[in-house]
Amino acid sequence: MTQNEKVEKYFESELSMLPEESKDSLEVEEIKDICLKALEEIQQYREIGTAEEFKVLKEKNEPKNATFDNIYDIYICPDCGKSVGEHQNYCWNCGQAFSV
Ligand SMILES: [Zn+2]
Repeated sequence: MTQNEKVEKYFESELSMLPEESKDSLEVEEIKDICLKALEEIQQYREIGTAEEFKVLKEKNEPKNATFDNIYDIYICPDCGKSVGEHQNYCWNCGQAFSV
């Protein structure tokens, strides 16, 4: 049974327990719609990644200062330590954003 089917089934049982005169109450249907829409939104986020993955990407996108290696005359990625070009904004190796 899918999550959507579980939500549908739950609300069906909730509706069946209501007294006959309140069964046409829109409130339960309204809450069910809110739950199904929220569930759909969560499912869309799950398709593109987890919160932990987003946290890592956000950190990678925050520019860090590249360090300059005076001996080899190159810039070094602040995250992975590979040499990077001074005119690039992201490390070719790990994707870390940096500024020089
Ligand atoms: Zn790197």
